[in-house]
Amino acid sequence: MKASNFAYVRARSIGDAVAAFRGCAGEARYLAGGQSLLAAMNLRLLASDLLIDISRIDALRGIERRGDEVRIGALTRHAEVQTSPLVAEHVPLLTAAAPWVAHPAIRNRGTFGGSIAFADPASEFPAVALALNARIELDNGEQRRLVAAEQFFQDLYETAAEPGEIVSAVYCPVAGAGDRFTFDELARRRGDYAIVGTAIAATFDGDAIARMRIALFSVGATPFLARGAAAALCGTTLRDADIARAQAALADELSPSEDAHVSAETRLHLASVLLRRQLGKLREQRP
Ligand SMILES: Cc1cc2nc3c(=O)[nH]c(=O)nc-3n(C[C@H](O)[C@H](O)[C@H](O)COP(=O)(O)OP(=O)(O)OC[C@H]3O[C@@H](n4cnc5c(N)ncnc54)[C@H](O)[C@@H]3O)c2cc1C
Repeated sequence: MKASNFAYVRARSIGDAVAAFRGCAGEARYLAGGQSLLAAMNLRLLASDLLIDISRIDALRGIERRGDEVRIGALTRHAEVQTSPLVAEHVPLLTAAAPWVAHPAIRNRGTFGGSIAFADPASEFPAVALALNARIELDNGEQRRLVAAEQFFQDLYETAAEPGEIVSAVYCPVAGAGDRFTFDELARRRGDYAIVGTAIAATFDGDAIARMRIALFSVGATPFLARGAAAALCGTTLRDADIARAQAALADELSPSEDAHVSAETRLHLASVLLRRQLGKLREQRP
């Protein structure tokens, strides 16, 4: 199938893009890598009157360290996230997640900011942003604001961005000496969207967990922060009994969605299995 008719404009700056968005009487959308938007339009799941191409806006590019954070420009391709030495050194959870995003051809075109803005609950990067409690930078052409990932992902494909606001960058905290991370997902075939996935960021104090954030994806309308499971693990050394308690806490707090392939019960079981495996890997990484 092909998309219904739409107009196209290429923006040279964030201000241009926002002005075009505000000037459109119908449905306007930003076009970044096009890997979600064009597929959805071609399948007629979405229609747009105007596509505003933001892919040539220099202000949306670049990966740089800023103090205790790494700022990743929205137009950074998934493949660049995967291979960036700066990301590998300071935000290793992102490096671990990137190879799981789709296939190489899609990673060469899809953008980090596009994945965050689209907020697909089955996507890897929103869950990583949640596990890290990264900050999302939004730009309305006049001013910028930062929103914590916990507040950003609000509902199915719904975020804290106001109409016309552009995701301009994501600020990820720089990993400290006691920080350890794990990422994994279960999918029917490598490259498919996950049936369930986990992204975990933990801070060790000696042998024990001082802080932990466990984000799951493909379990509901948004990435899910498993607060109960994480709380069950704080102060522990991740013994088998501690992990079992975290699994029980997860079962209490998570009511996963079901779809044509996987029932809610199966998804919960898989989430619990994945959590146990990931915590086992984390235990092996203790400083
Ligand atoms: C076959 C296939 C398999 C895939 N598998 C996976 C997968 O396993 N995991 C995964 O995470 N993704 C997967 N994707 C999606 C892919 O990662 C997309 O690239 C990504 O989700 C969106 O990035 P994009 O740059 O292509 O955005 P686009 O498709 O250009 O835009 C997506 C949406 O976000 C908006 N948008 C884009 N950038 C911005 C911005 N900076 N500010 C505000 N709004 C913006 C657009 O208006 C649009 O509504 C898959 C895609 C395909 C086609």
